[in-house]
Amino acid sequence: MSIQNNVKTGIRNPFEIVQKQCEECAGLLNLSPDVYELIRFPMRELHVSIPVRMDDGMIKVFKGFRVQYNDALGPTKGGIRFHPEETIDTVRALAAWMTWKCSLLNLPLGGAKGGVVCNPREMSLGELERLSRGYVEQVWQFIGPDRDIPAPDVYTTPQVMAWMMDEYSRRVGKNQFGVITGKPLLLGGAAGRNIATARGGIYVIEEAAAEIGLNLNNATMVVQGYGNVGYHAAALAHELLGCKIIAVSDRKGGIYRKKGLDPRLVYEYKQTHGSVVGFPDTEPITNGELFELEADILCPSALENVITAENAAKIKARLIAELANGPTTPEADEILSEKGIHILPDILCNAGGVTVSYFEMVQNFNMYYWDEAEVFERLQRKMTAAYRAVLQTAQKYKVNMRKAAYMVALNRLAEAMKLRGWA
Ligand code: GLU
Repeated sequence: MSIQNNVKTGIRNPFEIVQKQCEECAGLLNLSPDVYELIRFPMRELHVSIPVRMDDGMIKVFKGFRVQYNDALGPTKGGIRFHPEETIDTVRALAAWMTWKCSLLNLPLGGAKGGVVCNPREMSLGELERLSRGYVEQVWQFIGPDRDIPAPDVYTTPQVMAWMMDEYSRRVGKNQFGVITGKPLLLGGAAGRNIATARGGIYVIEEAAAEIGLNLNNATMVVQGYGNVGYHAAALAHELLGCKIIAVSDRKGGIYRKKGLDPRLVYEYKQTHGSVVGFPDTEPITNGELFELEADILCPSALENVITAENAAKIKARLIAELANGPTTPEADEILSEKGIHILPDILCNAGGVTVSYFEMVQNFNMYYWDEAEVFERLQRKMTAAYRAVLQTAQKYKVNMRKAAYMVALNRLAEAMKLRGWA
C-alpha cells in the first residue's frame, strides 16, 4: 500500500500520520511485530462507483469508499463524509482513529469510516437522496447492525442517515434501525446525538480545566470551524461553563470580538448569510490569525491538519480541545508539548459522538428509548473515565496526553487481538 502526500495541495497525508503514531506507540508499548502489522493497515476496504441521475437528466458517477479498519473489539463503527477533497488515505486515517477512539472509550466496537467524493453544497436534495441511496446500494452487503454501522460526519446529516437506513432496510426486507446511527429522533435516533460530540468535549474540558487550574467562568475560547460540532461546543461552553467565546471561524474566514460573542446569534447569522464573516460588531480575522489569538482554550472543530509546524509555536492557548479529527500534525504536537500546553487529543475529546452513537445502537436493539438526561449522564461517566485513564497513563509513563491516549487505546486493542488468537 503506497502512501503519498497530495502534491497538488501540499496537504499532509493523514494516513502517513497514523503510521507514524502507530510506530511510536509500538515502541512505547513494546508491541509484538504481528500486532504492529495488524494495526498499521486496514483490515478491509471497499472502493465503489456510484452512478447518480442528476436533475438535468445526465448520469454522474461518484467515487466512494468504506474502510473497516479493525473489528477485534466488535462490529466496526464510524461516520461517512461527503467531501469534494475526500481521498482513500483520509478515509483510512479516519477509520484508524475511529478504532482507537472506540477502544479508548471502552465501547464494544471496532473502527471504520466511509467517504464519497462530492460537493453536497452544489447538489439538490433529490440528488443527495439518490447519492445516499446509491452509496448503500454499493455497500449494503458489507455493513449491518452487527457488522459495520455508519454514522454522520462532515457534510452528512440525520436526513442522509434516514435515507441510508431506509435503503438498507428495503434491501434486507425489514426495518433495521440499528444499521446506522445519527438518525432523526422519529426513526430511532438517540436523544442528544446531534450535540453529543460537543457535549462530550465539554465534559473533558471541565476535567482538564480542573487539572490545570483554569477557572472556566469567563475563560476565553476560540473555535475554528462553525459546523455542528464547533457551533454546539461554543454554545455549550458559553451557556454551561460561562466561557467567553472571543473568536469563531468557518471556511470563509473568522470574526473576533474581545467582549465575547453570543454563539447562537452567530449561528443564526451563518444560517442566513452562509458564513460567520460579516457578523455585526466584530473584527474580521483570517483562519490563520485565529490560532494565534490570546485565549485560554482553542477548539479546532473542522478538518484535519490545521495545527502544523508553521503555526504551533505561535499558539498561546493553555488548553487545546481537539473536536475535529486529526487537527494536529506530529511535528506540531512536539512543539505544543514543549510549550506545556495541555491537549485533549481528538480520539478523547470528540469521542462523545460515537459514544452516543453506541447508546443509539443499544436503544435500537432494545426498542426502548432513554431521555436526554439519561443519555448525558451516561456520556459524562464514559468521557470522565476515559480522561482519567489517559491522564493517569500520561503521568505514569511521563508522556503527553496524545501518546497516553494512544497507549490506552492500542493496549486494549492488542489484548483483544491476542485473546482472539490473531497475534
Ligand atoms: N463521525 C463521528 C466521529 O468521527 C461519529 C462516528 C459515529 O458516531 O459512529 O467520531
